[in-house]
Amino acid sequence: MQKGAIRVQTENIFPIIKKFLYSDHDIFLRELVSNAVDATQKLKTLASVGEFKGDIGNTDITVSLDKEKKTITISDRGVGMTAEEVDKYINQVAFSGAEEFVNKYKGQTDGANIIGHFGLGFYSSFMVSSQVEIYSKSWRPDTKAVRWECDGSPEYELEETVKEERGTDIVMHINEESEEFLDENRIRTILEKFCRFLPVPIRFQDTQI
Ligand code: ADP
Ligand code: MG
Repeated sequence: MQKGAIRVQTENIFPIIKKFLYSDHDIFLRELVSNAVDATQKLKTLASVGEFKGDIGNTDITVSLDKEKKTITISDRGVGMTAEEVDKYINQVAFSGAEEFVNKYKGQTDGANIIGHFGLGFYSSFMVSSQVEIYSKSWRPDTKAVRWECDGSPEYELEETVKEERGTDIVMHINEESEEFLDENRIRTILEKFCRFLPVPIRFQDTQI
């Protein structure tokens, strides 16, 4: 006979993430740009060992702001993700790690450290977003591009999409309380603070940071 408790899934981890990081909302940009840099560096490594054989092309990372749509988009031409990789690195990590995250760091206030340690960097985007979309196409030949979408509840959507270029676009739909981030100067200041000396050029609204 086996006895056990049904694992109650944390309803919604995003309000918790928000609460922990209350004073530090602008780190979302650093986290997402770091992921774009990591993905780009991985691609360069694959090329240098001969595993990636195509044309690397321009690998500048671009950050763009659309005030009308209320979105911030971060695009890279790094390794990209297959549907399996999105499932493994985005879905499973967050939804299995949520309870552990809450229990371990209850009461602590150093948001930036907490989020980094827990590998929930990507999810810091939900501090400022009502919805986040990922469009990604892996460097691997013959893989389909994928679109992932989540509004901060534990349900997500993952489907095939059309995307010509290798790499990843993260589209953040900025929530009402975070409209301060729909300001060019604000974004530029944050990028200048966090993203100045990275190994890959970062462009914002067509100028290099
Ligand atoms: P960490 O960067 O510490 O691993 P994150 O939550 O920031 O944690 O990201 C989780 C994982 O999602 C990354 O390790 C990577 O596998 C994948 N990922 C996130 N952003 C990208 C991206 N722009 N391109 C490719 N893979 C990505
Ligand atoms: Mg990261």
